[in-house]
Amino acid sequence: MNEHANPTVELYDTTLRDGAQQADLSYTVEDRLRILHKLDQVGFPFVEGGWPGANPRDTEFFKVATKETLKTSTLTAFGMTRRAGERAEDSQVLRDLLDAGTEIVCLVGKSWDLHVTEALRTDLQDGVAMVRDSVELLRAQGRRVFFDAEHFFDGYRSDSAFAMAVLAAAEEAGAERLVLCDTNGGMLPFDIATVVREVQAQAGVPLGIHVHNDAGCAVANSLVAVEAGVHQVQGTINGYGERTGNADLIPLTADLVLKMGATDALPAGAVEHLTELAHYVAEIANLAPDSRQPYTGRHAFTHKAGLHTSGVARLTRAYEHVPPEAVGNRRGVVASDYGGGATIRMKAAELELDLDDVAIPAVVEQIKERESRGYAFDVAEASLELLMRRASGWTQPFFEIESYRVHVEERMGDDEQPLAEATVKVRTQGTRHIESTEGQGPVDALDTALRKALANDYPALDQMALEDFRVRVLSGAHGTAAVVRVLIDLSNGEREWTTVGVSENIIEASWEALVDGYTFGLVHPRTP
Ligand SMILES: [Zn+2]
Repeated sequence: MNEHANPTVELYDTTLRDGAQQADLSYTVEDRLRILHKLDQVGFPFVEGGWPGANPRDTEFFKVATKETLKTSTLTAFGMTRRAGERAEDSQVLRDLLDAGTEIVCLVGKSWDLHVTEALRTDLQDGVAMVRDSVELLRAQGRRVFFDAEHFFDGYRSDSAFAMAVLAAAEEAGAERLVLCDTNGGMLPFDIATVVREVQAQAGVPLGIHVHNDAGCAVANSLVAVEAGVHQVQGTINGYGERTGNADLIPLTADLVLKMGATDALPAGAVEHLTELAHYVAEIANLAPDSRQPYTGRHAFTHKAGLHTSGVARLTRAYEHVPPEAVGNRRGVVASDYGGGATIRMKAAELELDLDDVAIPAVVEQIKERESRGYAFDVAEASLELLMRRASGWTQPFFEIESYRVHVEERMGDDEQPLAEATVKVRTQGTRHIESTEGQGPVDALDTALRKALANDYPALDQMALEDFRVRVLSGAHGTAAVVRVLIDLSNGEREWTTVGVSENIIEASWEALVDGYTFGLVHPRTP
């Protein structure tokens, strides 16, 4: 598979700068520090921290982050060249970059003639000088400089002489990397490969690639750039970024290391931490991890159809492009009514459950029966696991529910939300707990009451958070009443799981999913 001559690749992460441009994202300074340390721990050589001076939060981050001790990562600052008609010495932007105090600065400059003449309203000669002067000033102050050639591919197509003159100016002034950017993200792999080869023939320093995903090609474009000779690859964890995002460093790194032989891109063994890294950053970003993310998504190695899964059980290599453990993921099998016994047998092996030839058909029957009533075990694997455990004779040892009730109070007054009040009676290890709480809605109230009742005996509940709650009304067949399916996502910061409840009554369905959710969390505590 590997005919790519083991390229040497340098990974450059811009999750904290370009990735933070995503519309629904915002990080506190503490969030950024946590991500920085995680990237350092996994072994990313360069981490771009932000644009000092662009907003107070970025400036503050550099004050704190430059004092942190990092093992493998070098923190870099990003910023723009001097303005048109300005002297580099007078540039506030460059001064802010120097004040950030990083060893390396990633300086962005315009390499598309259209932007110079139309947006900056200056001539191309000044466009080149802006880059040269700015790099020179940073070099004179002892900074190492990576140069990001903004809109390079569009610029090269429009006026290649100008685009190349900009690169040459940056190189002559002392930039050590010339990073070719597809800022609009519209290029296709063929465009990228051709241009990189042409530039490569003229450049005296290593090239880099920085692409956005607007044409759905960011990872592919980065890979062809590497094959065409690029050394530095820029991207973000989970592909976060403005519009459709940046190149996703998660699958990109896995492709580079596992398939293109760029084994030096991360320290030995680090690729096995990609799943954990992807989920960690998603958690801090407060976004649900993409279950279909290549390599690391929860369903990236989930097999569904019956024939197929019995095939997987026999010979994984025949159905998987890489072993899931290679990136720290796990093989999953979607159990569904067309899965049959082989699926359940495989699932049992995965969970290390002892299900014999009597128990397996019984589980298959139960799944079929429940799915016909509206349960969806292919999306609620935690509930499936509990069902299978119970089929093997297991009962959960953690708590015993005596009763629960909830009522909703319509409150008078314009701004008043309806208030729900729940009471839960539970026994844990012989102790009886009665907890009443109020909440925003019945599920919130029940959740809070149940957690309070269990919190003393099970402090692990503090680490569990209810991430999402989805309700679907399934229309009743043949004159029966409609039923409600509730899916609940919980997370303990290390893994997420989904449980399901079904009933004609939404409170009952929610309660079933909640109880399963906390039970599963107690069966699988976080690694200490
Ligand atoms: Zn960008």
